[in-house]
Amino acid sequence: MAWNLEFVRFPAPDGVNGWWESLPPAPPAVAVTAERHYDWVVVGGGITGLCAARRLAELAPDASIALVEADRIGRTTAGRNSGFFVDLPHDISSESYSRSVEADKADVRLQRHGIDYVRSVVKQKGIDCDWQDDGKFHASVNRKGHAALTHFAEGLARIGEDFEWLDEAGIAGVTGTDFYESALFTPGCSTVQPAALMRGLAASLPENVAVFESSAVRGISDNGSAKVLSFANGKLIARRVVLCTNAYAATFGGHPNGLLPVYTFASMTRAMNANEVRRLGGTRSWSLIPADPMGSTIRRLVTDRICVRNHFAFRPGLEVSQADLTKAKSLHRRSFERRFPMLEDVELEYTWGGPLCLSVNNGALFGRRSDGVFEAVGCNGLGLSRGSASGKLIAEYALGRDNDLIRQLLNQPHPRSLPIRPIADVAVTAAIWMKEFSAGAEL
Ligand SMILES: Cc1cc2nc3c(=O)[nH]c(=O)nc-3n(C[C@H](O)[C@H](O)[C@H](O)COP(=O)(O)OP(=O)(O)OC[C@H]3O[C@@H](n4cnc5c(N)ncnc54)[C@H](O)[C@@H]3O)c2cc1C
Repeated sequence: MAWNLEFVRFPAPDGVNGWWESLPPAPPAVAVTAERHYDWVVVGGGITGLCAARRLAELAPDASIALVEADRIGRTTAGRNSGFFVDLPHDISSESYSRSVEADKADVRLQRHGIDYVRSVVKQKGIDCDWQDDGKFHASVNRKGHAALTHFAEGLARIGEDFEWLDEAGIAGVTGTDFYESALFTPGCSTVQPAALMRGLAASLPENVAVFESSAVRGISDNGSAKVLSFANGKLIARRVVLCTNAYAATFGGHPNGLLPVYTFASMTRAMNANEVRRLGGTRSWSLIPADPMGSTIRRLVTDRICVRNHFAFRPGLEVSQADLTKAKSLHRRSFERRFPMLEDVELEYTWGGPLCLSVNNGALFGRRSDGVFEAVGCNGLGLSRGSASGKLIAEYALGRDNDLIRQLLNQPHPRSLPIRPIADVAVTAAIWMKEFSAGAEL
């Protein structure tokens, strides 16, 4: 049956991505400029699409595959995050990241599957992306935060996961700041330079994958025998399509699909000089998550820069304004000064935002969308590990494989629908505001 799928929201330059800017210039993009035929087209060059294209190529080495990205691979959300490949439960809508024992165990299994897959590619292909298996700290600034960490630790104990408590002096010895009261160290998290990882994953794809960037799919139609993907300057004709467009897949109006594009923001300092490094103290590199999911995520990088992430904003039009970026930068500056008063001269060099794809019930879309069209969409804030897993597994599913993890993803809840706009806008914005307000000192 003939049908059409129209794309209405495209990636916009939401601030300046510090990870991308600190890499050498990317080689020129190869864009879609003619009509070409492929067995498979994967839409979206984030972590999910990169893993889907790789896995298709591994399992079907004779198939021709195209991966298409509207912007540059590494410059969009998958290359503009804080770089945490989180293995443990991380439900950012819960006050302590945990859910039930069963749900937490299932999340850990899936997330480790994704991390193991990407780590093996990074090692095998020698991708230079500062991949570190050094774990993460969950830190609290007051009693409320400590109570949340205690709850999280109880959840970890229930599912048999390791952790270690640090007191105020212990976490100060790592971070150089006496801002935090206590912390939980969990060893399984990996961290990366995300833009370098995405570029490296794209550059090392198997030979049967053609990569097109600066090529936004405008629409897909089914002419009965193939899918026709249209671009500004060309067409790709495919037997099968895999959609990995995350927040850009959110729909509103008559048929809302329950996916919520919620932006979060980050800033990166300039590199500290030797004097500033000495004044800060602590260890050379560390990665810290706040006790309250709405608080500030902080990383100290081997490049002697510090990265701060906080603040959320519901932006259904998938664009942030200059006012959003100015507000985010001032919140980041305040968080930075509270933690690092000894670094008052260290400026925030870059500030940017990117869309998460959330849903009110932590649901996501995975599986067959229509004949010959598959989708893996809905990162729920944890796209690095979950996106790696769901990208790999959607390729396996589309090729007819079956396993426990595929079934787990097929059985996850669909994103719950929302009230129509503008009621949804008001409800989501108010919920974010209340949660941020309650995070208080953790910001
Ligand atoms: C500041 C910040 C910090 C974060 N920190 C973390 C973290 O530490 N750990 C973590 O796990 N997650 C983090 N996230 C979330 C994480 O970045 C996302 O979950 C992840 O990027 C999702 O990957 P994805 O491939 O599914 O989607 P995306 O990365 O959004 O990729 C989708 C791609 O599809 C492309 N696209 C969309 N429409 C089209 C079209 N019509 N044609 C062609 N291409 C199209 C987009 O340009 C985009 O590149 C953070 C996000 C932000 C913004």
